[in-house]
Amino acid sequence: MKLLEEILTYNKSFVENKEYESFKTNKYPDKRLVIISCMDTRLVELLPKAMNMRNGDVKIVKVAGAVVAHPFGSIMRSVLVAVYELGADEVCVIGHYDCGMASLQAKNTIEKMKERGISEDKLATLHYSGINLEKFLHGFSCVEDSVKHSVEIIRHHPLMPGDVPVHGLVIDPKTGRLDTIADGYQN
Ligand SMILES: [Zn+2]
Repeated sequence: MKLLEEILTYNKSFVENKEYESFKTNKYPDKRLVIISCMDTRLVELLPKAMNMRNGDVKIVKVAGAVVAHPFGSIMRSVLVAVYELGADEVCVIGHYDCGMASLQAKNTIEKMKERGISEDKLATLHYSGINLEKFLHGFSCVEDSVKHSVEIIRHHPLMPGDVPVHGLVIDPKTGRLDTIADGYQN
């Protein structure tokens, strides 16, 4: 059975058996928090469990590396919507140790793109259109610094209210231990 088929078959019985009932909540985060974290598979269940977050407690924005790369990109927009429209009044950036973005090398990724059939011509067109793939696919060398940087972008964003604490944490993807990088109450 193909994956999508498997998902839809399971979903049918999930709904029929009313398994959704234990997840009932609304769109407003009970703990009034928005988290920006990595898409890493190890964090799917571990991160909310390790923080005692249940369905309905928190907004979670997932992005590779938990990086807020652009002050007017979709991640920052999600944070602003969470704060202004959905009742979040604290923000937490949570990176993790052993993150794929820490070892991301644009050159290697571009090589893989070529192997998968992306032509040199196409890459050249992007280059001459002003798209810098080296920058676009750049990871980070130190997760703590990356978290600090994202925290600063959010903290100093011109549209962020000054009374919203912005925290920075790093989670261990094996044990769930959280290390504090930036305590938003101290700023
Ligand atoms: Zn990661």
